[in-house]
Amino acid sequence: MRYERSSALFRAAYNVLPGGVNSPVRAFQAVGGTPVFVKEAKGAYFIDEDGNRFVDFIASWGPLLFGHAFEPVLEAVIERTRKGTSFGMPTALETELAEKVISMVPNVEKVRFVNSGTEACMSAVRLARGYTGRDKIIKFAGCYHGHADAFLIQAGSGAVTFGSPNSPGVTPGTAKDTLLATYNDLESVETLVSANTGEIAAFILEPVAGNMGCIPPEKGFLEGLRELCTRKGIVLIFDEVMTGFRLAPGGAQEALGIRADIATFGKVLGGGLPVGAFAASREIMRHLAPEGPVYQAGTLSGNPLAMGAGLAMLTAIEKDPEVFTRLEQKTAYLHKGLEKALDSKDVPVQINRFGSMISVHFTDAKVRDFESAAKGNNDYFKTYFHGMLDRGVYLPPSAFESYFLNDALSYEDLDLAIEAASQSMG
Ligand code: PMP
Repeated sequence: MRYERSSALFRAAYNVLPGGVNSPVRAFQAVGGTPVFVKEAKGAYFIDEDGNRFVDFIASWGPLLFGHAFEPVLEAVIERTRKGTSFGMPTALETELAEKVISMVPNVEKVRFVNSGTEACMSAVRLARGYTGRDKIIKFAGCYHGHADAFLIQAGSGAVTFGSPNSPGVTPGTAKDTLLATYNDLESVETLVSANTGEIAAFILEPVAGNMGCIPPEKGFLEGLRELCTRKGIVLIFDEVMTGFRLAPGGAQEALGIRADIATFGKVLGGGLPVGAFAASREIMRHLAPEGPVYQAGTLSGNPLAMGAGLAMLTAIEKDPEVFTRLEQKTAYLHKGLEKALDSKDVPVQINRFGSMISVHFTDAKVRDFESAAKGNNDYFKTYFHGMLDRGVYLPPSAFESYFLNDALSYEDLDLAIEAASQSMG
């Protein structure tokens, strides 16, 4: 593969964009080399500016459940665009999409649409604080909920990839209200709750973590959190930005059979357009402005292009619920194949998977929380990543990210990835 044009474009970008990108992990700092500049994409593939073709395992970091340039979404966006791109006034589309979300997601009666996962999580926490009248929240090391101040405390994803899980610019005043627990460790949560009696507004977590690689919840963990929240009047927030409409029509709540009090969404919900949402019972949502005093707003929130894309996406899922089974089967096939390809090599490997989320950590011990994920060997990861890239397989350029499979991937594509993995670590 040659990356000449991508290199030139990256140099030009570097002059005018911090780090040459608009979101840090794209810069390839963790893996070195030149970020690939995309020209166009269709289905499971994208073509870069040098004309290389890649099988894409990130699907825009999750949104593209059916693959790139999915016709129903394209048509919806084009049709809506012709009628105007934004009004800042109510449209019927917003109600229609909210009704669809409510019909698919368990335990929610009202929805507020926003423009990103960050906004959804930030607003969900404010709502939980307003609802309970309490200040503190518990988050889990290695979970990522976007870049709002309260979440940049031992955050996963790009924050930890760049070695700054605690960002400068977040004041000690803000940080003191975010308490840190360990993923898959109920006791760490119980200890914090006991030490802060009556002060915890919410727990926020990824029900299946995807920002320290993929880490599924162990048996009893989410059940224990649910029980603790119910007993102590704490709001349980499931950040379903990755898992929503990906693990099942009703997200992790449906897939795992656990009910959250507030669920946040992004990614698949927008079908590739900037959309986020948070949803809860009427009782909780009535505290939100203009019904209640907890303020939240957005000039472009609920804009018709994003709502049209979202409606097309959720309608496609409703029409084809088998998509989740197909994705699960493809990911299980990839899992088995990668295991076979990598186990024979002289490297320590752990592969975690849940539904269509999967990741590879180069470490001996089971990866079940941030600490064990952080033990992964980054040199092996770099070799693996670049080996795959040069063989036309695009993976997340950081070990602290999950792959997202899409329905357009064929078994031949998966075989190509498995063979590439074997050769990469050869
Ligand atoms: N929550 C989770 C679980 C995420 O994975 C992300 C982004 N990857 C966010 C929140 C933030 O979403 P956004 O990047 O759309 O702000």
